Amino acid sequence: VPTLAVVGRPNVGKSTLVNRIIGRREAVVEDVPGVTRDRVSYEANWSGRRFMVQDTGGWEPDAKGLQQSVARQAEQAMSTADAILLVVDAVVGATATDEAAARVLRRSKTPVILVANKVDDERTESEAAALWSLGLGEPRAVSATHGRGTGDLLDDVLAVLPETPREGTGTAGPRRVALVGKPNVGKSSLLNKLTGDERSVVHDVAGTTVDPVDSLVELGGKVWRFVDTAGLRKRVSHASGAEFYASLRTKGAIDAAEVAILLIDASEVISEQDLRVLSMVAEAGRALVIAFNKWDLVDEDRRGQLEREIDRDLMRVPWAQRVNVSAKTGRAVQRLVPALETSLASWDKRIPTGRLNTWLKEVVAATPPPMRGGRLPRIMFATQATTRPPTFVLFTTGFLEAGYRRFIERRLREEFNFDGSPVRISVRIRE
Ligand code: GDP
Repeated sequence: VPTLAVVGRPNVGKSTLVNRIIGRREAVVEDVPGVTRDRVSYEANWSGRRFMVQDTGGWEPDAKGLQQSVARQAEQAMSTADAILLVVDAVVGATATDEAAARVLRRSKTPVILVANKVDDERTESEAAALWSLGLGEPRAVSATHGRGTGDLLDDVLAVLPETPREGTGTAGPRRVALVGKPNVGKSSLLNKLTGDERSVVHDVAGTTVDPVDSLVELGGKVWRFVDTAGLRKRVSHASGAEFYASLRTKGAIDAAEVAILLIDASEVISEQDLRVLSMVAEAGRALVIAFNKWDLVDEDRRGQLEREIDRDLMRVPWAQRVNVSAKTGRAVQRLVPALETSLASWDKRIPTGRLNTWLKEVVAATPPPMRGGRLPRIMFATQATTRPPTFVLFTTGFLEAGYRRFIERRLREEFNFDGSPVRISVRIRE
């Protein structure tokens, strides 16, 4: 179970915040300097995820004084916790002790979230913003006593805590794959090939209910759920409007899946229709594997043409894994498995806030964003807000042009490797 440590100097409201997080309603015991409580852990639950909260409690300022002792507390949290909240009193502002703790935590590889407490109403919001000066990114304004902002704070905490498998939900079951592509590219043929060996069709997986429209298929020693494959087994209807319904169905399958295999007929010119399906996958933010089917029909000439078509049409997804297969001969169909695995690993990937910001600082120092209106936008901080797909938020003082965002994405991919997954970057401008 991941652990969240709450650190800060006495009287900033750590205990009140801990009580709020664990949903305890007893009278709040505030830190009393001189009264030492043992460090205690409590169990917390938010949005169905369980984690421990470590209350560092009150302590005795040691011989070296309060600053030293708070800094030591921060050091300890860095080595034992999975995420750290540094709590600061927004009304008092950053004190020398807060600064000492922040100095330690700025080096932290463990994600740190800065909490500006005692923001009981809108008027104190601006005081919270002043805590940007601590160099720990965006101060999260909360009121531990009233509960203001604590829900958002906990969402942020969950975003940085390592995932633990949830009980009773789908995440532990087979990964969900959508097999999509225009009519006649070979979707049914490929599915038949993959399930051709009767043993690969699974009817039962402990703890999962099989939707009758899905197929469970064992590939590479693992069970995968191919979603909404019922339609693939039927013959294509030529009735009017069939294409419209096929497209709705494709969209439904993509939404239900985690990763899509986009099948493209390698023997034909890449078409509008192929690109429409590609757009659906991209918009849904799913991981993507592109499989060029009918490779048995591809000769040298066609291969050269296809390379040019890829350069022209598929450069919006340069990160997608590509596999050349033949559903007819069975060529390379097993190579789809590592491609799916790589893509899903990228789709699930989380970069710790500390690592992300150390890297970002170097990149921005070497190549700053272009000037806007005579001013250089400053990028202050980044955080990965979500996985599936990895989504990053950059906090800046000004607009970042699209070209620079693409540059950041490219460098991010080089550094952390998100092969097979889209990556989203959004920018929040702070004055
Ligand atoms: P779907 O509409 O995407 O499900 O496509 P089908 O699986 O029904 O395939 C359409 C046609 O392409 C059928 O005639 C298949 O036999 C043929 N086909 C599928 N895969 C291949 C392949 O790898 N090579 C060749 N030569 N033909 C294929």
